[in-house]
Amino acid sequence: MSSIWKTKGREFGELSGDVECDVAIIGGGVAGLWCAYHLVKAGKKVCVLEAKFVGSGVTAGSSAILTYAHDLIYKDLGDKGEQYLKDAQNAIKSIRKIYPNLEPIKFTLFSTKKKGLKNLRKEVKAYKSLGLDLEMTTEVDLPYPIRGALEFDAFQFNPLDLINFLADEIIKGGGQIFEDARVIEAPDGETLSVNDKTITAKYFIVATHFPYINKLGFYWLKMYQGQNYCIAFKDKTEFCKGISYESIDETGFEYRRVGDDILMDGVSVRVGKKSKKDKFGIMERHLSKHFGKRKEVARFVAQDCITLDRLPYAGRYSHFTDNVFVVSGFNKWGMTSSFVTAKIVTDIILGKADDDSIYSPQRMDLVVNSVKASGHVGNVLLAFLNKIVPGPACSHMGCRMKWNRDTKTWDCPCHGSRFDKKGQLINGPATTNLKVGCRGSCRGCASRCA
Ligand SMILES: Cc1cc2nc3c(=O)[nH]c(=O)nc-3n(C[C@H](O)[C@H](O)[C@H](O)COP(=O)(O)OP(=O)(O)OC[C@H]3O[C@@H](n4cnc5c(N)ncnc54)[C@H](O)[C@@H]3O)c2cc1C
Repeated sequence: MSSIWKTKGREFGELSGDVECDVAIIGGGVAGLWCAYHLVKAGKKVCVLEAKFVGSGVTAGSSAILTYAHDLIYKDLGDKGEQYLKDAQNAIKSIRKIYPNLEPIKFTLFSTKKKGLKNLRKEVKAYKSLGLDLEMTTEVDLPYPIRGALEFDAFQFNPLDLINFLADEIIKGGGQIFEDARVIEAPDGETLSVNDKTITAKYFIVATHFPYINKLGFYWLKMYQGQNYCIAFKDKTEFCKGISYESIDETGFEYRRVGDDILMDGVSVRVGKKSKKDKFGIMERHLSKHFGKRKEVARFVAQDCITLDRLPYAGRYSHFTDNVFVVSGFNKWGMTSSFVTAKIVTDIILGKADDDSIYSPQRMDLVVNSVKASGHVGNVLLAFLNKIVPGPACSHMGCRMKWNRDTKTWDCPCHGSRFDKKGQLINGPATTNLKVGCRGSCRGCASRCA
């Protein structure tokens, strides 16, 4: 299944020898490349280690809307909302100065439900308390009635074009990018071994989407992955010209224009959870009901890390790592949050800031959000105990994998690692392939197993 974004950038070589640099960045998605960008601009020698090729991860499945309106976040953030809004607004201002290919649009959050309307009203109240006046509207160009909507000035862009732009800037600034460089071990003091080569660095930044080091930081205990199903279809009407729509309802859809196509992003589930069957079927039925017959041009799934308190992580990887940092947990808003978190981490490395922001990974989110935390831990324990049931166990932490009929992949319900039917790794945090050979009773998977 292919993404709608087709811009293929330049290719970078593999590691062919040992490397010495100031900062080694693990992961070449939007977050890793923003870290590298800030550091080369500050005169640092950086190297980026990317498991596949730059932009091959979640960034390639993004809708890439640049906004501070991250769903209905401000009604839930309490006193942290002011800082979050300021950081997102500053990030957008800075990105506009750096990256030229942003298209201004109106971004609309809408609901078709009574409960959604109530929540939109709460968000308006939260914005008011932060000094922004918003008006609710029902005047939208959607093919079905809604209860209410909020409109914001925003931008959209091609995420792979941004990746290419950043990669060029990093290389121009003297940085190095290595592809096919999957990091499996944790940095050991000043060195990291990758593909039998040694990387020596003063600092390391883990920007692998879901952090891959399990022994430190407990990210596996406080994060999971949420997945969206996406279909793009041909549309030569005026729909979504200069505007994009995102439903705040659990069962709603998002639409944005990409040239002559509409990207529709829909059914949203926790990875590996057997919630709704035939997820692409749900989208197809919605499409034919409201848009008539349309030629499909792409279909894919994409997933992002979800934190318990909806704030991303940026700072030292753990209490015990002075020179290893992390950027992660973007809650499906990484186009602004990757910039915010990259700036925080690189400012700490450059000695311009302390590690005490609202995004610090050392914050007490597990305790503060104990109800959500126990739900997540319960899910992890259940999948872990399920190991006694025949079937493949995840190469990350051993959880029992779930077969996803929609995507024909093995999905991990604990932390969201995904593998193709032969066990080849698609998404981390796992760093190695899955053993899919049958174990004991087959439970109907014989045709898939080795
Ligand atoms: C359907 C969907 C729509 C979205 N729409 C929006 C939107 O409109 N606006 C918005 O702001 N955000 C949006 N997001 C969120 C945003 O796309 C993500 O938060 C962001 O792309 C994550 O970037 P990343 O760099 O953390 O991850 P990735 O792009 O996944 O980058 C991580 C990289 O690390 C590499 N890697 C992994 N493990 C290793 C390893 N062990 N060694 C070396 N390399 C490794 C991977 O290959 C990958 O290239 C959306 C997300 C989804 C799922």
